[in-house]
Order: sequence, then C-alpha cells, then structure tokens
Amino acid sequence: MKIDLNLLNKRLTPQIRGIVEGLSAISKRLNIKLYLVGGPVRDLLLKRDAIDLDFLIDSSLDKFLESVESDLDVEIEKTSFLTAKFKFSQFVIDIAQARKEIYLNFGDLPQVSPATLEEDAKRRDFTINSLMLEIKDGCFVELIDYLKGVEDLNRKIIRVIGKNSFYDDSTRIIRALRYEKRFNFTLADDTFEQLKSAISKNVFSTLSVQRLGAEFLRTLKEENITPAIMRLWQLTAGGFLTGDIEITPKMCNLLKKWDKLKKCFELDDLWLISLIIIYKDINLSQFNLIAEALELKKLARRIITDLKSLDLEEFLTSISKRLSKVEIYDRLKSIDTHLIAYFYLISRGKAKTNLRTYIDKISKVKITITGEDILAAGIAEGPHVGSMLEKVLRAKIRGELRNRKDEINYLKTVILD
Ligand code: ATP
Repeated sequence: MKIDLNLLNKRLTPQIRGIVEGLSAISKRLNIKLYLVGGPVRDLLLKRDAIDLDFLIDSSLDKFLESVESDLDVEIEKTSFLTAKFKFSQFVIDIAQARKEIYLNFGDLPQVSPATLEEDAKRRDFTINSLMLEIKDGCFVELIDYLKGVEDLNRKIIRVIGKNSFYDDSTRIIRALRYEKRFNFTLADDTFEQLKSAISKNVFSTLSVQRLGAEFLRTLKEENITPAIMRLWQLTAGGFLTGDIEITPKMCNLLKKWDKLKKCFELDDLWLISLIIIYKDINLSQFNLIAEALELKKLARRIITDLKSLDLEEFLTSISKRLSKVEIYDRLKSIDTHLIAYFYLISRGKAKTNLRTYIDKISKVKITITGEDILAAGIAEGPHVGSMLEKVLRAKIRGELRNRKDEINYLKTVILD
C-alpha cells in the first residue's frame, strides 16, 4: 500500500515538528542520514500520539550528539552502547546508531555492533516496529519497510522477526501481548505458535526477573491492562514472575473496573492499584520476588505490606457509617492515597461515599498559614506548632474558614486556648 508522506508530515504536532527540524538541521550540517524509527513511525501510521521519539542515524553517534547538546541546549545521557537519550519538553528522545545484535546464548544480553539499516530493522521485535522514515530538511522523504511492516499494520497483525526471537529475548512475549491488546491486533499464526512453544519450554527462566519485571511494569502502566494481563496469565498458566497466581473472575472484574476508573484519579502510580489487585493475597516470599522483579520503591513495598497487615473488613466497617468530614479525615489521613483509591474500588454504599468525599473534597483542603505565621505571632518553636496548624486545618475541613483572614482569626483563638 502506498503511504502518503505529505499526510504523515502534516500529522506532526508543532512540538514534534520542531524536534524533527532541529535534528534534521544537524544531520544536514554533518552530512549524516537521519531516520525516525520503530514505535513512533507505527504510531504515526496508526494516527496515535507518540511521547517517546526514536531516531536513528547511519554514522557514529559522538559528533551528532555533541551538536544536539549545543544546538538544542539539552543534556544527553548515553544509555548503552550506540544509544543515547535526552528529554525535550515532555518528550523522551532516543538517538541510536544503526546496529545489529547477536545472541550467543538464549536469554543473554546481545552483543551489539554497528550495522546497516536493514540489519537494524531485522534485530527488532515485530515487523510493525521495524519501519523507518527518512528525514530531510525537516520532512519525511521516504518510508523504509524491509519486512512488510506496513502490510502487517494494515492487516492488524503482530508478526515476530526471526525464528528464535522469543528464545533470544522472552520479554518479547510480554511485548507481543501488550501490542496485541493495545491496538486490538492479532498475532500471526506462526508467531503465536512460536510464542506458545517458547512458553512451554520455560523460556522465561532464561532471563533475569528484573528484565521481565520491567517489561511487565510497562504493561501495568497501559491505559487498559486487563485484556493483556488475562491473556498473559492464560498463556503462562498462572503468571510468569512467580508461579501459580490465580486471577479469579472477581480480580478480573476489579482490574476492568480500575481500567475504567483510573482516569479520574490523580495518583503518581496508577499501576500500583492493578498490582495490589493481582498480588494482594500472595505470601511474603512471593511478594518479595515480585518487589525485586519490579524494582519497587520503598513506598510501594510499604503500601502493599500495610495492606496485608490490615484487617480490611474491620477497616471498611469503620468507615461504613454516617461520619462527619473530620471523622472521615481522622480515619484516612495517615493512609497513602493509592490505598485509598484501592479501598474506593472495592467498597460499596456508605464506605464508598465517604471515601469519595475524602478523595474529592477533604484531601484537597489546604490551609494558607504555615509554621512561619505561628512563629511570627510570637509562639516558640516546638511540636505544638504542628498541632495548632492541625487545628486550623480541621476547622477548615468543618467548613468554618473560607479564606486566609478567617484562618488567621481562628489561629488567634487557638493560641489563646
Ligand atoms: P511503546 O509504544 O510501548 O513505548 P515502542 O515501540 O516505542 O513501544 P520501545 O520499548 O520504546 O517500544 O522500543 C523502541 C523500539 O525498539 C521498538 O519499536 C522496537 O523496534 C525496538 N525494541 C524494543 N524492545 C525490543 C526487544 N525486546 N527486542 C527487539 N526490539 C525491541
């Protein structure tokens, strides 16, 4: 199928166009060929927004990166051999030199060396991720498709490149299922056979849990994770990071519910709720393995261990009654907001209403006065400063204070108390 490059050029947002033009000017000056490759090309053809931009050049990186650093005033981080990345506005931009990979043993990290464009296309995971757009004078001038990626895109097919692909790198199994469900594509028949055969030969055991965990985490961070997770679980018979974790119909319903709800929550790590749903009931040694695989930070570990040690029924009962705003605040203030979102998901009736009130209203109540104001009023430093602020906050939660003036007046009564 013929691709209209003019249309693709027009599809670029002004910000991405700016980046393409900036890099293109450098490539022209240095007489180096520049390409947009992989995911962003696929997404451009599918009319989807891309946030990570991957560029490829056909010559040594150093000179190019030096110019990028000075022209675009960015800090470049060399990520691995022949690749580098930098941040520009909200975009993460990867620049790599065309390279090939040789796997000496299944599951080992590959040996990487400079290569032709075609070799670079062939080292990739799927045909739809092997497309390249040559850039000249800030515009796409040619679509390079060594492996019939456009045909597969049009037919909505995920097709692996290379016979041993899943053995070389079993994270590609997780990637295949993620793309399948994200785009609503199907796996090519032979790709599916290779995938099942690799799983049946226990191919996940050839990789470190961290590499698998990092790819799994990317699936957990998708907008709509349930279909990919269910498929992964079904094919791997109970999980792949640690054995025999059953996803019950109840868990599946919760995952789906969270997929729909998560847009309404302002949380740093929306994926944590999905993680809680899947792994809430596992024993500590299994949980430690998951935590290690996903390289969970202290906070995430604490959230899950806190939940495990909590009497959930008792807690939900304690918030299932008619409560004032301050009573709700008292019951929830020391609980992490991710856990509160989880409680909201699993609760009903009055408990759900109270949790919603906390999430939407109470947790957003802030006071303008600070410890400085209290010290300025002649009060000595000490823990009582915190208690005074807390009293003002509680009055504001009760709806007694509207503005800074009210807060200061109230503080005066607190000081006199
Ligand atoms: P996403 O939209 O999920 O971010 P992406 O296609 O941008 O997907 P990345 O993981 O950012 O994927 O990788 C960039 C490109 O590198 C991919 O498009 C693919 O061509 C290649 N790639 C990534 N991981 C692998 C892998 N495990 N094996 C082979 N090629 C890979």
